[in-house]
Amino acid sequence: MYRTVYYAACITHPDTKKNDLDRFCIDCIRAFCYHCLPAHARHTYVKIRRYVYCEVINKQDLCKLFDCSGIQQGNADLDISEAQHEF
Ligand SMILES: [Zn+2]
Ligand SMILES: [Zn+2]
Repeated sequence: MYRTVYYAACITHPDTKKNDLDRFCIDCIRAFCYHCLPAHARHTYVKIRRYVYCEVINKQDLCKLFDCSGIQQGNADLDISEAQHEF
């Protein structure tokens, strides 16, 4: 599930190389690509590494950054509350 969420191609840069959604913006609560980086430069974001993404973004980390009750509201792009069930 993580793989499909994070490693879809960026809809803003569909024809650009390195457009994997390999970063996650805490402020926007969405994944974004290398080319979107300038738009999020002042935001809090984490880089998602392909094979250790479960460790990079896990429930504990998110709860430190978010109010967990906010996560439960879900998000159309990234359903974090559902992802938490895996932990
Ligand atoms: Zn992009
Ligand atoms: Zn952002």
